[in-house]
Amino acid sequence: MTRIMDGNKVSQDIRGEIKEKTAQLKGKGIIPGLAVVLVGDDPASQIYVKRKENACHEVGFYSREYKIPAETHEKDLLNLIGVLNADQKIHGILVQLPLPSHINSSLIIEAIDPQKDVDGFHPVNVGRLLTGQPCQMACTPKGIMVLLERYGISLAGKEAVIVGRSNIVGKPLFLMLLAQNATVTVCHTKTKDLAEVTCRADILIAAAGKAEIVRGDMVREGAVVIDVGINRLDNGKLAGDVSFAEVSPHCAFITPVPGGVGPMTIAMLLHNTLKAAEAGLEA
Ligand code: NAD
Repeated sequence: MTRIMDGNKVSQDIRGEIKEKTAQLKGKGIIPGLAVVLVGDDPASQIYVKRKENACHEVGFYSREYKIPAETHEKDLLNLIGVLNADQKIHGILVQLPLPSHINSSLIIEAIDPQKDVDGFHPVNVGRLLTGQPCQMACTPKGIMVLLERYGISLAGKEAVIVGRSNIVGKPLFLMLLAQNATVTVCHTKTKDLAEVTCRADILIAAAGKAEIVRGDMVREGAVVIDVGINRLDNGKLAGDVSFAEVSPHCAFITPVPGGVGPMTIAMLLHNTLKAAEAGLEA
């Protein structure tokens, strides 16, 4: 029987755990603090930022939001990052992407203190992930790993296939699965026969950003299927990268969209911020 992996439920459990740890930290005089920087007024980004802020309040974090105009100069944004790096009340800095095209995103990400890089995008954290050292890990792939763990899905020796090789999902997820001893294949737009590769997967992760490209005949019987995609259809509805109707009858586990990976991403942002605050305690 197919089991639905309930990201809402698991993320709620994790938020509860974070809330307890936050209360303990407060007893030691530390309130985890997150600064969220939103440049411009992209509607989707505004929704994401609001959700992140609400999540911070729910667990008892201190949060500060910087909404700055789209035409802001790159050097002014760099100055703000410098100020936040030095701010002792702020343990995590999140710059909502995408940034307007006149701002070099890499430059901004590299300006963030790696310890405060709660998105795990800084090259220092990416390099540390690659070499198996402790680091801040990108929230979406980390959320997928936690979801797999909480559902008791073992990875050692399993064939894992990722569709998508982005810096924020596919590539870091490749490293995380490899670190757990899975045999990992990463597919992309130049992969010759996608279905032939996905059919090998014990664990299939779709992160292509293409509505329902994973069809029923692309998944092997009993596989675990993680759908990262969030695609807005012409009729306004949300769709994942996986055809839930076709795939779910064949697999052992599957994540829904919405309510699968999305809530886990926010829970991991909170987790990374808590970790950064705890690191301050050790320093
Ligand atoms: P991206 O556009 O940066 O990367 C997509 C990747 O998929 C690319 O590497 C590309 O080569 C590959 N790809 C695209 N079409 C393909 C095809 N037909 N066959 C094989 N490979 C193909 O996207 P991203 O930022 O990694 O996001 C991917 C999806 O995940 C999007 O729908 C995004 O909205 C969603 N997302 C969700 C969360 C979450 O919290 N749930 C977080 C991040 C991204």
